[in-house]
Amino acid sequence: MTESLKQIDRLICDWLKIVDDILPRLIQEMHTDTKKDRFDLVTNVDKQIQDHFQTFLSNQLPGHLLLAEEKNNDDIDPYHGHVWIMDPIDGTANLVKQQEDYCIILGYFVDGEPKLSYIYDYPHNKLYKAIAGEGAYENDLPMLKPATLSIEDAILSFNPHVLNDRTINALFQTSFSYRIIGSCGLDSIRVIKGQFGAHMNTNPKPWDIVAQFLFAQELNLKMTSLDGGKVDFGKGGPFIISNPGCHQDVLDILNSGNGYQK
Ligand code: NAP
Ligand code: CA
Ligand code: CA
Repeated sequence: MTESLKQIDRLICDWLKIVDDILPRLIQEMHTDTKKDRFDLVTNVDKQIQDHFQTFLSNQLPGHLLLAEEKNNDDIDPYHGHVWIMDPIDGTANLVKQQEDYCIILGYFVDGEPKLSYIYDYPHNKLYKAIAGEGAYENDLPMLKPATLSIEDAILSFNPHVLNDRTINALFQTSFSYRIIGSCGLDSIRVIKGQFGAHMNTNPKPWDIVAQFLFAQELNLKMTSLDGGKVDFGKGGPFIISNPGCHQDVLDILNSGNGYQK
């Protein structure tokens, strides 16, 4: 890792320690608003964590830009310069309903290349980090490439509301089982750790999937669109992160017949 990347990583880890100090109070004072509909939640926690990070960037890394869920990003070009993409709380419904199973997602790109990625599982005190060319870490311990999982042995994770019944039944029948945590970042972490075979989302935004690129790159996982193509980190769109042992089989099911969409 270059010296400047090391310094940036240290700054981010220090910022996440500040999060440890401020989150309990924010959660205690939490109030919830809705966005598009009654299921689309946002809280003061999401907004204040994002604002805190924006202030930190402006002070510590001037010139670095932020593309994030709870702000307008019209003026951000994600493909040039130093760009951070952030989901301040991924799994907001879990935060509101369960106070568990949510995370902060962060990805750092230089001229469109991923350099650093973070998924911070605050309730379980686990920081997952990936560094370009160096590997991935769980609380500073190196993460291993997961063992190969065939679809028959794999737990699959997806939102059943968005797939047609034929596809859901085929996935249930072919795989070992089904689980969903309800946080794109933490469902992806299960794949990254070899606990799940695959996680897919038919409509993620850049901040839902930004960190997963580097974990997939460093740990030999597959991260593609649902037709097997490349995912554009600046746009998001249908994606799967998968163990290499079941990726093609899951895609074959999604794309058989008239496809997976309702
Ligand atoms: P949820 O618990 O609100 O969210 C589960 C995960 O999906 C979180 O990572 C969440 O990020 C993300 N998410 C939230 N809204 C999404 C959307 N419209 N499209 C894709 N990802 C989304 O999920 P839920 O209660 O099951 O569903 C809430 C709404 O989101 C429903 O309309 C559902 O159909 C839709 N959704 C769609 C997909 C998909 O694959 N297309 C996946 C999940 C949810 P935040 O916590 O940062 O919002
Ligand atoms: Ca999200
Ligand atoms: Ca969010």
